[in-house]
Amino acid sequence: VKITSSTTPARKLAHVAQAGLRPLVSLNNTLSAVPKFIYPTVTGTADQQAMIWETLDKLPMHHAVRPNSIGVVPSIDGTPNILGRNLSPLGRVTLSESGHGMSNPDVFKNTVNHEVGHSVDHPSGFFSIFTKSRPSDSEPFGAGPNVSDYAGTNPREDFAESYELHRHDPQALRDVNAAKADELQQLDKPTYLQRLVDRPAFRETGKWIGKQFQAYPQLRTGLEIVRQTGIFSLALAGSAKVTEGVIDKDSRDVALGLLQTGAGVGLALAPSVPWLGVAATAALGGSVGVKAAQDAQADAGRTVASMIGAGVGGVLGGFVTPLVATQLGYTLAGPAGGALALLAGGMLGGTLGAKLGAKFALGKSPEGARPQE
Ligand SMILES: [Zn+2]
Repeated sequence: VKITSSTTPARKLAHVAQAGLRPLVSLNNTLSAVPKFIYPTVTGTADQQAMIWETLDKLPMHHAVRPNSIGVVPSIDGTPNILGRNLSPLGRVTLSESGHGMSNPDVFKNTVNHEVGHSVDHPSGFFSIFTKSRPSDSEPFGAGPNVSDYAGTNPREDFAESYELHRHDPQALRDVNAAKADELQQLDKPTYLQRLVDRPAFRETGKWIGKQFQAYPQLRTGLEIVRQTGIFSLALAGSAKVTEGVIDKDSRDVALGLLQTGAGVGLALAPSVPWLGVAATAALGGSVGVKAAQDAQADAGRTVASMIGAGVGGVLGGFVTPLVATQLGYTLAGPAGGALALLAGGMLGGTLGAKLGAKFALGKSPEGARPQE
């Protein structure tokens, strides 16, 4: 008889539920790890949507995908003085139809840029408060000369106002404040990983996915909360495991917990520091490897080997495979094909890659190596 923990019906049920959730958790992790290419969900009249898309298309891709949704509402707080608002932690941008001048396409598009500017300054994610300081936290932002009176109200608005002018008329910003222009020019440059997804397959797939939520923009916000909660619970479960390991003096549990916590933190910060996404998938895979070694009652040396094997497998499966799959799916069947491939790759890749990596490193199936009684 195998020694397993699923001895009571309640535990069995919990195991089944966990197994069913695993692909979704895996997808959640992949979507958090890879450089973002899913475009915001855009809502409004046909004209308004066209103006928003026209504005997004002129932005560097890594800026265009920063908000999760951009929607037009009749008014904000019942006053025409507020043209737009950005709920930064959720990446939700609203534009006011009745805001002063918003019927003028230039004002409308400038407002889109202003709000995206807030998202560039503050990537969505409750954890982003822990990342390196926001651009607006330090000079030249928050100090004159300013592009407008409104920019003088606080450093956040200074950044957004400067960003708006940088998009509309870069030379005009440079004439007012060259240091701010330099800083914004620097932020326009994508990182290596961001450049990797800046190709038609990902742009078009990302736009297609964003559009699927048009009828339910709230669902998009809801999924964003789910995504962040998932990452948070991963970090939390990891730290619980560390505590457990310390109390039981079990170094493997401590390692497992540290890897999970590290993965959670890495995924949380990946929107601002893209390479942390790769590191997080490696840590996630590594934790699968430690678990497999635990099940196989492997010694310390083989546990480390299993951790490394599964870590490599985790990166290949949870990061590389979904991206390659998206490109392939798009080539074969357009944006819908890309989205479907991303879904499949994200659900299966990470866990499968890590398990194979662990199996390879341990030399035999972790399942077969389970202790018997
Ligand atoms: Zn603002």
